[in-house]
Amino acid sequence: MSNNTSPVSMEKLVSLCKRRGFIFQSSEIYGGIQGFWDYGPYGTALRKAIEQLWWSYTVEARSNVEGLDSTVICHPKVWKASGHLDKFGDMMTDCRECKSRHRVDQMEDPETCPNCESKDLTEPREFNLMMKTFVGPVFDEDHVAYLRAETCQPIFVDFHQVRIAARQKLPFGIAQIGKAFRNEINPRNFTFRSREFTQMEMEFFCFEEDSMTWYDYWKNERLNYYYDILGFTKEQLRTHDHDTLAHYAKAAVDIEFKFPFGWGELEGIHHRGTWDMSQHQEHSGENLEYFDQENKRKVIPTVVETSVGLDRTVLALLCNAYDEDMADTQKEGKAQEARVVFRFPAIVAPVQIAVLPLSKKLSTSAEKVCNDLRKYFRCEFDVTGSIGKRYRRQDEIGTPYCVTFDFDSLDDNAVTIRDRDTMEQVRISIDELRSYFDKKIIG
Ligand code: ATP
Repeated sequence: MSNNTSPVSMEKLVSLCKRRGFIFQSSEIYGGIQGFWDYGPYGTALRKAIEQLWWSYTVEARSNVEGLDSTVICHPKVWKASGHLDKFGDMMTDCRECKSRHRVDQMEDPETCPNCESKDLTEPREFNLMMKTFVGPVFDEDHVAYLRAETCQPIFVDFHQVRIAARQKLPFGIAQIGKAFRNEINPRNFTFRSREFTQMEMEFFCFEEDSMTWYDYWKNERLNYYYDILGFTKEQLRTHDHDTLAHYAKAAVDIEFKFPFGWGELEGIHHRGTWDMSQHQEHSGENLEYFDQENKRKVIPTVVETSVGLDRTVLALLCNAYDEDMADTQKEGKAQEARVVFRFPAIVAPVQIAVLPLSKKLSTSAEKVCNDLRKYFRCEFDVTGSIGKRYRRQDEIGTPYCVTFDFDSLDDNAVTIRDRDTMEQVRISIDELRSYFDKKIIG
């Protein structure tokens, strides 16, 4: 399996992603727009599979986490209360020499331009990352609204609505997957730092006295998810406790992945105290307290948050899965051949099964096999080109299983399954395919 010895460079990855239709620049025919990316057919399938996996792991598998799907634009006061309007920003500086712009906290030497090494930089100044728009026909300051910078604020605002609708008691969580927008000064490293991206966040509301137990619980749950479900290794992940904490927080940790360009944050797990709920209570004038029946007391819930970027997860999976090897093509009846392969876990692979008839004459029968499997798995039918070329193409998009339908299949009602990683081939009755793949893919 590919791991931190993976031969991937960002150049190779970006080019393969474009060639195979995983990810490419938004509005490319107009020269692209920096920090915005489109996902093509395979990228979309991979992204949706990860999203679904996170949702079922975080929400559907638990009775104490509920789902929410809120709007991207909220009342502007939400962002005043959350502090985003006043202090959600980075310090930036411009180079007068080469006209490049930089985030000061990302510069090795804040006095030197990392692009041209000039010392002629503007004074660092604050830059707010919120994206602005107008709601209604009048474009003035009274009609300004913001695209959400994180998906969690509407969760705090809707806390009581969700609690009452779902008849939940503390402790319980609310999760949301959705777009977030940040006017990043310096979008870079492919999709890692984008201006439009998707977050998968869960806010867990609990009593203050239990909050550190829940913090440890969620930290473990999230690490297990990366190891057991996404297949990351201990060498590829590390945790980084925040050196300085917000005044209201008891703990905060980042889960980082070893990207080809260095360690980068995948997810943040934050103890947020009662900060967000207290802020929204104060700014809205609504009572956001919770009545604890058992102890006959009113409390503002304490919050433990898990917040992960979907696009960063996709990128980490792509980096982890990319591999180059010498395909043991003797098993395919040919000499050895170099191949590029994405070794995605079968559960998230964009195509889980490819059905390949050996000859065009077998298309009708083979397509029937494919259509039957399509009801349960992500499948692709491919009849064009030599079988070797079709295998290599499926390797490049990371398909874990190829089903070959040959002339014997018409008589013995069996097909050959080729495993992407071992390249072993097994002959299986068509009637048993579903249960075979259930075990292999769903487990
Ligand atoms: P960073 O320090 O990298 O800017 P952050 O600490 O501001 O990230 P959070 O506000 O904690 O990030 O957001 C939670 C998650 O959202 C991050 O762990 C990351 O996966 C994702 N995320 C944040 N900003 C971006 C971005 N510009 N592009 C893609 N994903 C992002």
